[in-house]
Amino acid sequence: MVVTTALSPPLRALERPWAPWLRGTPMLWEIARAVGGGPFHVIHPATFAENLAGFLDALAAENIPGVVYYGKKANKAAAWLRECTRPGTGVDVASVPELVHALGNGVRGEAIAVTGAAKSGGLLWLALRHHCLLAVDAADELERVADQARSLGTTAEVLLRVRPPTAPTSRFGFAPDDLAAAVGRCAELGATVALHGFSFHLDGYDPVARAELAAQLIELCRRARALGHPASKISIGGGIAVAYVTREDWRRFTAGKDDSWFHGGRNPLRTYPYHQAPAGAAMVTAILRHDADGTSLAAQLREAGIELLLEPGRALVDGAGFSVFPVQGCKASGDHLVTTVAGLSMSLSEQWKGSEYLPDPILVRAGGPRDGDAPARTAVAGSSCLEYDVLTWRAVELPARPRAGDLLVYPNTAGYQMDKNESCFHQLPLPPKVVVDGDRWHIDADYLIQEIP
Ligand SMILES: *Cc1c(COP(=O)(O)O)cnc(C)c1O
Repeated sequence: MVVTTALSPPLRALERPWAPWLRGTPMLWEIARAVGGGPFHVIHPATFAENLAGFLDALAAENIPGVVYYGKKANKAAAWLRECTRPGTGVDVASVPELVHALGNGVRGEAIAVTGAAKSGGLLWLALRHHCLLAVDAADELERVADQARSLGTTAEVLLRVRPPTAPTSRFGFAPDDLAAAVGRCAELGATVALHGFSFHLDGYDPVARAELAAQLIELCRRARALGHPASKISIGGGIAVAYVTREDWRRFTAGKDDSWFHGGRNPLRTYPYHQAPAGAAMVTAILRHDADGTSLAAQLREAGIELLLEPGRALVDGAGFSVFPVQGCKASGDHLVTTVAGLSMSLSEQWKGSEYLPDPILVRAGGPRDGDAPARTAVAGSSCLEYDVLTWRAVELPARPRAGDLLVYPNTAGYQMDKNESCFHQLPLPPKVVVDGDRWHIDADYLIQEIP
């Protein structure tokens, strides 16, 4: 057991200008008071719109028709969905409530892609009623889709999900032989099923792996067309990289990473790679320009007349939110501090994967900086009765010792951190999401329909 800690190098979050601006305005304190003293998440749909425009521009620059589907599981807020009603945009869902939420916020069925393995009968029924694009995962699911489409008197709009050859044990998608059989089966099913193409979703963030598998999907489309299928779309899924910190900060951190940097020596084995390049829209460009045998993927897509579908989750909400935890107390633990905040570490999801959200939290002092403030090293804990309810095991350096009434902000948390694992443990209410639009704010409609105030 490590009782002393050593100072780790900083991991300063890369942020969009709205975030530090908001932290410096009285509006942050007004929101904190209005939500009643507990933790809250701030979200910024204008940044989502900026990220979305970047993806659409990356496609347009290569002259590739396509659709960007927001991978909805990355963040449940309603406010993003309004942005997904723009041309060339849709939502990727995997449950009835996600589908209903998207429909209720104005996203039309034709702009919704339904992914996920072995979808429920209710999800298939609703998706077929609304002419959503279904990524079919297995042969038995294809039969269930066809049965329901037949009884509804409709055509199922279908992609077949491919099991990546690099992940032969993945539980998602068709293995190669089964895929060939499914393409044949779609031909037998006639007008009940329209096979629009193929999809995949890869683990990791490698642009080359995506470009190479996409090229194989183009070939699958050519073969499917020979059997009479429309086969003019491929989806390369999500997993578009995000850079949370600079390359230099991340290099120094990973080069020296040591148990002694963490409270209790609890050094997470694996974390998200907090610096990656290329990230966001630049990664899409890298995929499109990847050139294995003299022809870029973009040129292959253009030549085959194929539309490129993307399903980014994390990358669309990059820079579009932060989480605020009011400080409740602070005490010494050996040579560093432990700060306790209102709320639970479940509102910062990484911790629940045995990992840690590493970008440095930011202290916002009640009343601003004070004379005599001196840097202090602290771990950060939640306000439950569990020893392991810790937001940050790493002893991070803050410009001052936190005090009750200060706010601790976790930057850039909209992608998976906010609500993936939240619960009402201890009967604490879930932190509200506060939508910031310029100098105005309102509470997100959450599971309901977002009416723009
Ligand atoms: C989770 C998921 C996504 C989004 O992944 P990100 O890493 O957030 O971009 C897209 N498509 C499918 C099928 C998924 O399961």
